[in-house]
Amino acid sequence: MTSNLSQPASPAPHPLLAALREALGDDAVLVSDVSDPLDRHLTDWRKRYRGRALAVVRPADTAGVATTVKLCAQHSVSIVPQGGNTSLVGGSVPDASGQQIVLSLSRLNQVLSVDPVNLSMTVQAGCLLSQVHTAADEAGLLFPLSMASEGSCTIGGNLATNAGGTQVLRHGTARALCLGLEAVTAQGEVWHGLQALRKDNTGYDLRDLLIGSEGTLAIITAATLALSPRPASQLAALASCRTLPACLALLQLARHNLGPALNGFEVMHQGAVALTLQHVPQQAKAARALMADGQTQAPTWTVLLDASGPQSQTELAAQLNTLLQEAIDQACVQNASVSQNQSQYRDIWVLRESVPLAEKIEGLMVKHDIAVPTSAIPAFVDQAQAALQSAFPGCRIVCFGHLGDGNLHYNVQGPPHLSDQAFLQDHEPAVNAAVYDIALSLGGTISAEHGIGQLKRSELGQRQSPVRTAWMRAIKQALDPAGTLNPGRLVP
Ligand SMILES: Cc1cc2nc3c(=O)[nH]c(=O)nc-3n(C[C@H](O)[C@H](O)[C@H](O)COP(=O)(O)OP(=O)(O)OC[C@H]3O[C@@H](n4cnc5c(N)ncnc54)[C@H](O)[C@@H]3O)c2cc1C
Repeated sequence: MTSNLSQPASPAPHPLLAALREALGDDAVLVSDVSDPLDRHLTDWRKRYRGRALAVVRPADTAGVATTVKLCAQHSVSIVPQGGNTSLVGGSVPDASGQQIVLSLSRLNQVLSVDPVNLSMTVQAGCLLSQVHTAADEAGLLFPLSMASEGSCTIGGNLATNAGGTQVLRHGTARALCLGLEAVTAQGEVWHGLQALRKDNTGYDLRDLLIGSEGTLAIITAATLALSPRPASQLAALASCRTLPACLALLQLARHNLGPALNGFEVMHQGAVALTLQHVPQQAKAARALMADGQTQAPTWTVLLDASGPQSQTELAAQLNTLLQEAIDQACVQNASVSQNQSQYRDIWVLRESVPLAEKIEGLMVKHDIAVPTSAIPAFVDQAQAALQSAFPGCRIVCFGHLGDGNLHYNVQGPPHLSDQAFLQDHEPAVNAAVYDIALSLGGTISAEHGIGQLKRSELGQRQSPVRTAWMRAIKQALDPAGTLNPGRLVP
């Protein structure tokens, strides 16, 4: 494999590199020409974007981040902040110029404090999400943000993208779970906003401005997070439904019967489960358990319910069983099973979380993470299916996601006779246009989870109101007038 770090045409290395080494130490500035260890910083998770960089810089603390930003500003070198590099929109990899640096937060990985009385925890931005879970668990508490990438993504990346995940129905997105931030500005100053308050009415909310700003306004170096009491019981159930309206009827029933115990309400269309059965069969045990004897196909829709609370496991199981029996009696559910133990609970979630991996093995798809009001989901799916089959006969649709939040992953693969590459190259803009037109006409959004990055930047510019674009540009200009932080991302 050849190196993707830019090899200078002249023998003289960029003067920024010597300045960074002097300030941060040699081991913080990676420019090896053995590219393998660095490739993971330069290529995105989906392998759609492959960039080059002057260096991957890994400061050890907030002061090191501030120094890096100051030096980069002095040398007019732009910065791509990077956490776990699990972005699905090309937000965290450098461009092809070889003139940017990747600023990795991976060494800022300490849990700084836990306050069980205030239900809060302060962590550095490079902590893995799974590490935050463990630290909360050790304190007998819960940090409920949860997603399939939690072993690789960082809390800084989660906040920079306002990540969602599987418990949004009950606990909200990353924004709702953040009390305070520490961040380095584009000028290399440190903003000390690590407060642990649930109420603060002192004007513009800078924390909320930075959350979801995808590394374009400042670099998040630490966060104070809101924790919850750890539930005494937690169960998951799978249910099969014939139609989306039936899934929504189950959702209404579940909200009514379970109240705040309902954490998540996920859905997988038949094709999504079929891909897991085909490509990752070990991870699809729970799907086979739900299928009736002799049945070879997954149900049309498989619903995953997650519930937890202070009641005992037996009481929660009784509540879930009553709910599902009622749903069967009302004919919105055909078949259902509730996890009996921790291993079955994991199997149910592994099935859901393996869908993106099965898709990756299947091939390249045009991916969407749209949202519409939950009540409009059936209309969205009907209209999108009709529009796509009429424009691209034989195209294959993989649909799954967070039905309870109105957020679907609606991914489109070309017909079998076309290569995935050819389909994407020739039809990606038209597929996007069809899907986004329908989502927006139903009061929805083009991104509910993954953000904008490079992938959807021009789409955002074309589709959002000119007022919103002007405000976004004015904010970017005010906070980062030289365009040092993640240029070419998010802001149209
Ligand atoms: C298998 C899989 C499942 C996923 N499931 C979900 C899901 O359920 N819900 C969801 O919302 N997303 C999901 N994602 C997307 C991704 O994991 C999230 O966007 C995650 O929050 C990114 O975190 P990260 O640390 O990997 O950030 P990165 O990918 O490194 O960066 C993402 C963006 O944030 C910026 N950034 C990173 N760190 C900082 C920082 N400290 N300060 C400022 N800017 C920063 C980057 O410049 C980039 O623009 C999934 C991804 C994968 C691969």
